[in-house]
This record gives sequence, structure tokens and C-alpha cells, in this order.
Amino acid sequence: MIFFSSRCLEYSFPGHPESPERVRRVYEYLNRKGYRFEEVKPCRKEDILLVHTPAHLKRVKTNSFFDPDTPNMENIYQYASLSAGAALQAAKQALEGENSFSLLRPPGHHAGKNYLGGFCYFNNIAIAVTWSLKKGVDKIAIVDFDGHHGNGSEDIFLGEKRVLYLSLHQYPAYPGTGEISKENCLNFPLPPGCKEEQFMRFFLEGINKVKKFSPSLIAVSAGFDAYKKDPLLNLNLEVETYLKIGEEIASLSKPLFALLEGGYHRDLPLCVENFLKGAGIK
Ligand SMILES: [Zn+2]
Repeated sequence: MIFFSSRCLEYSFPGHPESPERVRRVYEYLNRKGYRFEEVKPCRKEDILLVHTPAHLKRVKTNSFFDPDTPNMENIYQYASLSAGAALQAAKQALEGENSFSLLRPPGHHAGKNYLGGFCYFNNIAIAVTWSLKKGVDKIAIVDFDGHHGNGSEDIFLGEKRVLYLSLHQYPAYPGTGEISKENCLNFPLPPGCKEEQFMRFFLEGINKVKKFSPSLIAVSAGFDAYKKDPLLNLNLEVETYLKIGEEIASLSKPLFALLEGGYHRDLPLCVENFLKGAGIK
């Protein structure tokens, strides 16, 4: 199942790479391919507070922040709540037996307990994972194949034994974290220019660790900026690599849900389609 709301296309900031067009193109492409979409509801304040501090929530709600990458826009609280709400619904759907994907923006994995950044206001995946733990899921693995390190997700889950966080990312690059693994956070920093073969070798190593961890649920931070033509990074994945990535995650045979993070090239719809096919998300 795919969650989407055209409301997430309503906000934009001139010249910003995280634009409504990138998501609109994916939506229109998948729609033409026969995919169907479920409408979403905003996340409740209580659920945002499972992860974020009251001060952070207030900052977003009252537009009292400044970050050069993460624009302060009217109603951004509502859009960020909607994206987090879609993440919760995707997790719920996975737990009910159907793999799912949220095609909403803003993304989330750079938002920490008490900060925003990197185009992210609330950490969608962290909210969905924490909610699932609260519902009684014993162990959850987060697989983050966005080409940037999910510093916010690490900030939130470092030391949480019920969560294994796996991230593959270019290093050095924004946000400058993820050079080494720490406790339950497994980081694979990759040099700029890294080839697909090297990326996939580390990815499979990470997937093996996920298998040993034996989670009951898999949450995927699905960013597509490790794609070879992406303007923000210098990694070299092909469109077809995302099919393999999806297949490897699905081969763990656990309930899974995935959320859109980054991905800024025009080929984003093809990358997403391949991942959905590989992961068996319809
Ligand atoms: Zn990214």
C-alpha cells in the first residue's frame, strides 16, 4: 500500500532541491503505472512527543526557528505532522501484514530529539518506530539507504537496545556524522565516488547484521540520493540497484514499511518504482 496526500505538494521554497515537483513526478508516474494511493491523517501531538522535546515541537509549531537548509515556511507544522502521520499509518499497515510506503514530504531522518535540519522538521521514521515499540513490537531494524547519514535517527535511538539502526552514506558529506559505528548504530561511511559494487558489498554486510538481530519489523529510510546522477552526492548507484536493495530487504521476510527521504534527480520515479518492485510493495 502507498500513502500519499496532495497536500504535501502545497509548500515550496524557491530554488530548494526538496521541491514539490520531485514528489509530484513520482506520484504521477506511479499513478500512470496503476499504483493506488491511500489518503493520510496528520500525526497527533502526543505521538510527535514520543520522540521530540516539547521545545522542539513548539519551535516548529510557532515558526520560531532558522536553519539555512530547512526553510521556515507558513504552516510547516501541518505539513510535517502530515508526513509523520503517514509514517505511522505505514507502520500500522505493515504490522497488519501489508508492506507499505509513504510518498510524503518533508523527509525526516536529519531531525533529532531537539533539532531540525537537512530539510527535515520531525523525524517521521523515529516517530513510527517508537510508536511501534510502544505497541509491543519487541525489536525493530531501521535500514537507511539514503546517501546521507541519518544523524537525527542516530541521535534518537543511540543506546536503545530494541532498535538496530543501519546507515550507508557518503562520508565526508552533510551532515558530517556517521564516521564510525556506535553501540546499536551501524554506520558504513563511503568515500565520494564509491562504486555500486562497493556500496552493495557493505549493504549486504549490514543486511546480514539485521538478519542476526532478528527484528519483528523493518523500517526503511528510503532515500534515493545515492543514485549516480543525483546532484547532491557523489555515489554511483544505478536505477536497477534499488530493485536489488528492495529484494534484499524483502528477503528478510519480516513486515516492512518504507518512507521517502531524499532523492533529487529527475529519475527519482524510476528509482522509487524499482525499490517498490523489489520490496514487494504494491
Ligand atoms: Zn539524503
